[in-house]
Amino acid sequence: MSGTCLASPSIDPWLAHTVRIASITDEVEDVATYHLEFSDPESAKSYSFLPGQFNMLYLPGVGEAAISISSDPAQEGTLDHTVRIAGNVTGALARAAVGDTFGLRGPFGSSWPIEACLGGDVILVTGGIGLAPLRPAIYELLNRKSEFGTLSLLYGARHPFGLLYPSEYADWEQRGMSVNTTVDRASPAWQGNVGVVTQLLDRMPLPNPEETTVLCCGPEVMMWYTARSAIGRGIPADRIWVSLERNMNCAIGLCGHCQFGPTFVCKDGPVIRYDHVSSFLRVEGF
Ligand SMILES: Cc1cc2nc3c(=O)[nH]c(=O)nc-3n(C[C@H](O)[C@H](O)[C@H](O)COP(=O)(O)OP(=O)(O)OC[C@H]3O[C@@H](n4cnc5c(N)ncnc54)[C@H](O)[C@@H]3O)c2cc1C
Repeated sequence: MSGTCLASPSIDPWLAHTVRIASITDEVEDVATYHLEFSDPESAKSYSFLPGQFNMLYLPGVGEAAISISSDPAQEGTLDHTVRIAGNVTGALARAAVGDTFGLRGPFGSSWPIEACLGGDVILVTGGIGLAPLRPAIYELLNRKSEFGTLSLLYGARHPFGLLYPSEYADWEQRGMSVNTTVDRASPAWQGNVGVVTQLLDRMPLPNPEETTVLCCGPEVMMWYTARSAIGRGIPADRIWVSLERNMNCAIGLCGHCQFGPTFVCKDGPVIRYDHVSSFLRVEGF
């Protein structure tokens, strides 16, 4: 397993910090990024997270939802969540305005295995809103670029207007990550790739597959095909990491809502080594 598996022991996992919406960025249809500030300066000081971890966002009178952190862990004072409207909590968040406050518990869960990537090539494969939980890893890899080999992002969306954070791609490229996008359906102006994201993986040169790490986040079927393609190209299964999503309540391994085979997504995940969950990934009901 990667880095930490629980919130820092010094943090009470039941304690909801009050956060204020400092600003909102509309990303794509039904998706916005909420830039949050802690109301209590002490909470702000003590809070830190690792790439891939998530918070439980608590909207009083509505409920709680697990949402990944999408900002740069090295940027003190910034805490972003990129949220797609799915139901009650995310819908209520979409109706919130700058200045509104709500509760936040966390951070929870395991993190992307940045240290396991050291010295090798790293490929991030993702689709749609799956880029949000990977964005902190992108920042960390770029902040420490000299410690890794080549960095490649393979990113697919249904259509060109579904690609998240397009204004950042030039910066990521300039700092040393190749950004390769593809869409299922092109618009008239689209000049890039059309097709599923795994085609980008199938086509890219892989000079050192045994020392390449894949970080993958998206629909389970996409992660399954990505892993199959990566293994077919010679990348070891124990160098492939996926981020899982399951409905969860407590976020600390007590309630069992997010159980996935023998794994609790909230505390053993969400980031899990592919070979630890591969046998459950395509089983209906899991
Ligand atoms: C570790 C983790 C990280 C995550 N990160 C993110 C993230 O970064 N961004 C993000 O947008 N999401 C993220 N999610 C997903 C998010 O937690 C879910 O979408 C969550 O369910 C949203 O809560 P909600 O209250 O808005 O939706 P809910 O009200 O729980 O609805 C969820 C789904 O259930 C359906 N539903 C709701 N009520 C009913 C009903 N009465 N009958 C039938 N169907 C119903 C909805 O249509 C919807 O499809 C993450 C999940 C996990 C586990």
